[in-house]
Amino acid sequence: TKPLLSVNDMAIVFTSPDEPDIEAVRQVDLTLTPGKTLALVGESGCGKSVTARAVLRLLDKNADISRGEILYDAAQDGPVDIARLDPDGLAMRSIRGAQISMIFQEPMTSLSPVHTIGNQIDEVIMLHERMSQKQARERTIALLDQVGVPGARDRANAYPFELSGGLRQRAMIAMALACTPKLLIADEPTTALDVTTQAQILDLLRQLQDDFGMAILFITHDLGVVAEVADEVAVMYLGDVVEQGDVYEVFRAPQHPYTQALMNSVPRLQRKAERQRLSPIKGTVPSPKDRPEGCAFTSRCPHAFAPCPNIRPERTEVGAGHIARCHLLTQANVEEPA
Ligand code: SF4
Ligand code: MG
Repeated sequence: TKPLLSVNDMAIVFTSPDEPDIEAVRQVDLTLTPGKTLALVGESGCGKSVTARAVLRLLDKNADISRGEILYDAAQDGPVDIARLDPDGLAMRSIRGAQISMIFQEPMTSLSPVHTIGNQIDEVIMLHERMSQKQARERTIALLDQVGVPGARDRANAYPFELSGGLRQRAMIAMALACTPKLLIADEPTTALDVTTQAQILDLLRQLQDDFGMAILFITHDLGVVAEVADEVAVMYLGDVVEQGDVYEVFRAPQHPYTQALMNSVPRLQRKAERQRLSPIKGTVPSPKDRPEGCAFTSRCPHAFAPCPNIRPERTEVGAGHIARCHLLTQANVEEPA
């Protein structure tokens, strides 16, 4: 299958009037395929949400894509480089919300408190498709029904505050799916929910992916969630994607020391006998300001050696479609300084 979206060597810079620019995202390569879920995983602050917002060109004013491309293959017209589009221009506005849409941890990020959920979903439909409100409302009700909102016809007249957290999440998902997007970006959509509701929403997303065939970019810090939803995984550390591949392969045989440490810090992913001798990752994530020129993980890596702080590791294929960036994987090719 040909990719729907490829992010190639993307960097994102934050500027501020009285400080040097900060490259918050330094090296991101991602490929999204129709019908598949790619989980982008990493600790808070690693740049995963910023990466997602860049794909929709929803970065804050002080942030910009400084390198790389975001190739979106929009079927008829051939690929478009989203990184080159005007964020407020017609081309981007026709992609955003219709072909690529996004759901968030907090539904109130996308739902307005002062309009009924039905009116809000109708609006999204009518913004992108020629339709009367009456026709739009029928689609809205069908969508609410499809995402498991009981009594959808009546509930469409409810305001967000009249719904439970789980139902609000479902309403937001219905709104994101209003124009049957080809790509759904989900930024920690279940993090604020209780375990039962979380499981229901993950099930729902799986079901909707089967029904609609969309690609999903699922952003999370939770490896348990990755194991449940993802076909592929990309692990991010301090602005770099350090490892990526088939989720089964990466979980079975993680190659990057950061991925290995991340796996070891999650008790339910470990075999029981191993639990006692494993420990969480030492130290804290440095600021991107203090990131070394070379491997971002140098300051916390138990295996760091001579080339690590100064030379950036290359993408190395360690299995079919399984890629990691670490000097240990290419050690023979790295020249030790005299
Ligand atoms: Fe550790 Fe060096 Fe590999 Fe980075 S490149 S993960 S510091 S061994
Ligand atoms: Mg975030």
